[in-house]
Amino acid sequence: MLHNDQLEHWDRENFFHPSTHLAGFARGNQPHRVLTGGSGCHIEDRDGNRLLDAFAGLYCVNAGYGRAPIAEAIADQAKELAYYHAYVGHGTEASITLAKMVLDRAPDHMSKVYFGLSGSDANETNIKLIWYCNNILGRPEKKKIISRWRGYHGSGLMTGSLTGLELFHKKFDLPLSQVVHTDAPYYFRRSNRDQTESEFVAECVASLEALIDREGADTIAAFIGEPVLGTGGIVPPPEGYWPAIQAVLERHDILLIADEVVTGFGRLGTMFGSDHYGMRPDLITIAKGLTSAYAPLSGSIVSDRMWKVLERGTDENGPIGHGWTYSAHPIGAAAGVANLKLLDSLGLIENAGSVGSYLNATMRDALTEHPHVGDVRGEGMLCAVEFVADKVGHRFFDAADKIGPQIAGKLLEQDNIIARAMPQGDILGFAPPFCLTREEADQVVAGTVRAVTSVL
Ligand code: PLP
Repeated sequence: MLHNDQLEHWDRENFFHPSTHLAGFARGNQPHRVLTGGSGCHIEDRDGNRLLDAFAGLYCVNAGYGRAPIAEAIADQAKELAYYHAYVGHGTEASITLAKMVLDRAPDHMSKVYFGLSGSDANETNIKLIWYCNNILGRPEKKKIISRWRGYHGSGLMTGSLTGLELFHKKFDLPLSQVVHTDAPYYFRRSNRDQTESEFVAECVASLEALIDREGADTIAAFIGEPVLGTGGIVPPPEGYWPAIQAVLERHDILLIADEVVTGFGRLGTMFGSDHYGMRPDLITIAKGLTSAYAPLSGSIVSDRMWKVLERGTDENGPIGHGWTYSAHPIGAAAGVANLKLLDSLGLIENAGSVGSYLNATMRDALTEHPHVGDVRGEGMLCAVEFVADKVGHRFFDAADKIGPQIAGKLLEQDNIIARAMPQGDILGFAPPFCLTREEADQVVAGTVRAVTSVL
């Protein structure tokens, strides 16, 4: 085994880490941590620490760590046939079975699933499919995509543009011109404090209508949104938001992409967030929870009405010119089949719903009265605590105060619990594996209270 100093040296010298302060890491100011194992909701690092991972990696290890049936399915597939492509009608038993399992779980009006590797590439696929369809339908000007400020849809060229967080645009010349952003349904941060939730929804709708008017409905192809805003702050929508938005989109013949990379396969306690909020999307993006991150695999689930246009397109133009070498990779597909079976057999989605509600209620009871806690919110196995500088005056901290990172740091240092300081800086996020127990939820809440009172 390599010596710790050697490994750290190699890490700082050679490894380009994503979403990291590069210069700080090279200088040694950013932590270096080597993970070695995991079981259930816990991971272990090389220094012998056992950490409760209350963010399931990047809200993706939904089934929990150390699941033998998924690991064995991966090993069996690798031994039998590690790779063959999925072009021109090729497949494996695993990829064909997984497509069937995904469609069995998806809303009834969905027709097919295309498999990619990451949430980012699945969203790139979605935009290409929409552009392709509008060209086939003879409306080549209808191409712009509406996304929301605070939405997160990936960090490619198009998906980084769709993402509505400044960090992902800054110095990258994004967003691209085909993307326009509308308001986030963030009731807690509304500017008019007297507004009711339904008045706030009406304002979001009016603002969307105004944007469509300004741009022209005949230039707008689609609207993309996460059922619950994730990386933008874990913000469930206000009551009635999705039906109201969907009505506007239908009126203007604008497609809806539900980005369910986080919410898909049970994080809200229902199979999809679309089911939870009554959305009727034309495309659903899936990734993380599809394999519980045991292997990289994503997907674009396509509706009946889009599928008919895609078929017509290939009759008129020949095979669709879109595909990755690793589309429907057999090892990813084997992981997906084993993962979905495990979610069913262990009742993990029901657990996400019930223990998630318990975590949210306990966190709310423990922290709502704290003078610097402005909001405790969540849905299913998603929970967020938002900190404010002045509760009565509704004044926020500056991102530079780094309140979220400070509290997340304390939580780790004092109680060996991992939560995520969301990119805005003043929100602490929780998205544990679905196997979280009530006792573990209690530990997370108690540790968070200690960390909050240590910092604020
Ligand atoms: N969409 C959503 C809602 C996400 O949360 C993420 C990642 O966190 C993505 C897309 C991008 O997925 P990936 O990081 O696998 O490219």
